[in-house]
Amino acid sequence: MSYKNTLVKFIAAISIALSLLAFVSCSEAVPAEDPRPDRPQLIADNFAYPVGPGEYVTEARDRKDEWYNAQDFGENDHLGEDWNKNSGGNTDCGEPVYAIGNGEITYAADAGPGWGNVVIITHTLPDGTQVQSLYGHLKDIEKTSGPIKMREKVGTIGDGHGRYLCHLHLEIREQHCPSWDMVFVGYSPIRYGWVDPSDFIDKRR
Ligand SMILES: [Zn+2]
Repeated sequence: MSYKNTLVKFIAAISIALSLLAFVSCSEAVPAEDPRPDRPQLIADNFAYPVGPGEYVTEARDRKDEWYNAQDFGENDHLGEDWNKNSGGNTDCGEPVYAIGNGEITYAADAGPGWGNVVIITHTLPDGTQVQSLYGHLKDIEKTSGPIKMREKVGTIGDGHGRYLCHLHLEIREQHCPSWDMVFVGYSPIRYGWVDPSDFIDKRR
């Protein structure tokens, strides 16, 4: 092999190497597809109670507000809280129910006898973890999908197809909840995945 041939091959090799390098750097320069959805996700940075005109109500049947929690979380293996008006009976039928925090409606349907209309909202907390709030026995559902803001109307208080006196059954579930995105039984001695709604809201008001 002559000196000239070797030089030509050397130059050719260098050019191939340079073009490969250029190709690689060009490919790296192409921006990766934006993984974020078109609309920015609503972060749930604070929470409020789902009933009453203000953001806060007491669990007691007192004169501080018109609402009380008739059946606490854990009482009779209850997986939620039952919110009623102090005035009793069906006086709260049709009263508005509000989203406890910013989120996305991920379930809205008639869940049948014992439940009536149910809405589930998925909330993304500032640290990225998610929780869900469930609103049961609704008379009407305001909106069946999409983003919803804290205190935006979810629906109205109902009686679960006439099975109960009107009240709101409110649950809050954590990400490891076995019935994530699903309606479940409402009562269970095993509460792993469910949290006390009032305690959860009070810590984040
Ligand atoms: Zn209940």
